[in-house]
Amino acid sequence: MSDMLGHREDVDRVLIDEKVIEKRLDTMAEEIDREFPAGPILAIVLLKGAFVFAADLLRRIPRPLEIECLNVASYHGGTESSGSVKFLDHVLPDVKGRHVLLLDDILDTGRTLKAVADRLMLDGCAAVHTGVLLAKDKVRAEDVQADYVGFEIGDEFVVGYGLDYQGLYRNLPFVGVLKP
Ligand code: 5GP
Ligand code: MG
Repeated sequence: MSDMLGHREDVDRVLIDEKVIEKRLDTMAEEIDREFPAGPILAIVLLKGAFVFAADLLRRIPRPLEIECLNVASYHGGTESSGSVKFLDHVLPDVKGRHVLLLDDILDTGRTLKAVADRLMLDGCAAVHTGVLLAKDKVRAEDVQADYVGFEIGDEFVVGYGLDYQGLYRNLPFVGVLKP
């Protein structure tokens, strides 16, 4: 318990409360279920950041659904995107002819979603539909948008609900901003 408090003591302010996230996920799941073509969905979850968001979102989608995870790294422990996207898996999921729901935690420069979506299209998937919990309101390095966005936020570094700073804070149940 004291550990948990210590964890939260590093947080300057809560940006999006747990209850607010849960309500938004209900709506997003309905949208996805309504708009996605008939048939099983192949969800591809970008690790590690999107695992909490994906777990909560996908359990709200009441239809046949397969889940694959991809390990990508787009920055290296700091608070700025590095500009290059690395695929860390030896084998990528078979996406041929599939409609993919690609999930990431946050859309920042857009490089990650663009690189992964391009790769999935090269691998022959039918279409990539993208979903993010958060999208930063900024001019992106890559001209990409997500089809499903949980929340638009300002251009600041956030943690919690899957998002880390140097590996920590992913388990915070809310999205927040750290003390400087
Ligand atoms: P992009 O490729 O769009 O610049 O960045 C996407 C990735 O950068 C995300 O998957 C996430 O790992 C990381 N990222 C971008 N902004 C933030 C942020 O505010 N907080 C954290 N923790 N990670 C971020
Ligand atoms: Mg990440």
